[in-house]
Amino acid sequence: MLEKRKLVDLDAPNASTAIINGRSSNVLNWDDTAHPWAYPMYKNMLANFWIPNEINMSNDLKQWPELSDTEQASFKKIIGLLAFLDSIQTDYSGKIADYLTDSSLSALMQVLAFQEVVHNQSYSYVLSSLVHQSEQEEIFEYWKHDPVLIERNTFITDGYQSFIDDPNPDSFLKSLVYDVVLEGLFFYAGFAFFYNLARNNKMVSTSTMINYINRDEQIHVNLFARIFKETLDQNPDLDKPYYHEFATRTFAEAAELEIKWAHHIIGDHFPGIPIHDLEDYIRFMANKRSKQLGADKPFPDYKKNPLKWIRAYQEVDEGKSDFFEQKSRQYTKVSEDNGFDEL
Ligand code: ZN
Ligand code: ZN
Repeated sequence: MLEKRKLVDLDAPNASTAIINGRSSNVLNWDDTAHPWAYPMYKNMLANFWIPNEINMSNDLKQWPELSDTEQASFKKIIGLLAFLDSIQTDYSGKIADYLTDSSLSALMQVLAFQEVVHNQSYSYVLSSLVHQSEQEEIFEYWKHDPVLIERNTFITDGYQSFIDDPNPDSFLKSLVYDVVLEGLFFYAGFAFFYNLARNNKMVSTSTMINYINRDEQIHVNLFARIFKETLDQNPDLDKPYYHEFATRTFAEAAELEIKWAHHIIGDHFPGIPIHDLEDYIRFMANKRSKQLGADKPFPDYKKNPLKWIRAYQEVDEGKSDFFEQKSRQYTKVSEDNGFDEL
């Protein structure tokens, strides 16, 4: 059984007693939460706040007609995929939040859901800057028709749907693994494509947004991985080795799907991202995510990231990503100019 969080619980403490099936008054006091990492994570998420239309697309618009047909086709397919994943993610995170009996974790989930909405805004914004409305609408329909996309999306949505249809600790934990696949692996071949464009000084504004999305997703992965691990720690009746094994197996399968997708959208078309290196990079990332969940690596032989250059684009917090128009980590630009009232 999995119980929904009560709207109010008069006799329960503000700091919750457990992540699932626990008790919490449902009042949120950031200085009185069960998890010391929750408030720093919240502050981090706020510090990363960004708005797509603050990023000037005029250079990308100039370069767009100069991209090859292959580049344009991959660009559009990847945006189509990301738009699907982020849409689903907005809804799933809200559903998961209902079962977190911890006001600080459900609050983090709401912020996460908001960020997914911003991610979707960026895809609409990028496409509306580059292509006609009718083409944009077509791109947002790709997920319905492209067989490779359908296969990998179904892999995730089946896992999410099992939880939605029958919320219990088992479907809850498994859906968390699918979540980490979505946010921590299924974006990454697409990210690599955009970073490779940026590396060649192409479509840098779009890649800046991808970089911001990447930064958000890394925090999302941390949040879900923590919930997964701590739920297992808090519930000794749940079979930890079984769920670890499930995570390893799921990441092995997910990596195969991501590799198939990588062949589909990247293949041998882009000399900067040799497909064999990209395959190994995907296996390396699958290992990394499995480890974050406390599970064994699905590909123990893949210990090194073969796309060394990507680190500088991807690991925003290491301060190497000066390729993009990075904003300071403390978001302070609040004015009428960017559409906000004074706070
Ligand atoms: Zn997202
Ligand atoms: Zn996310």
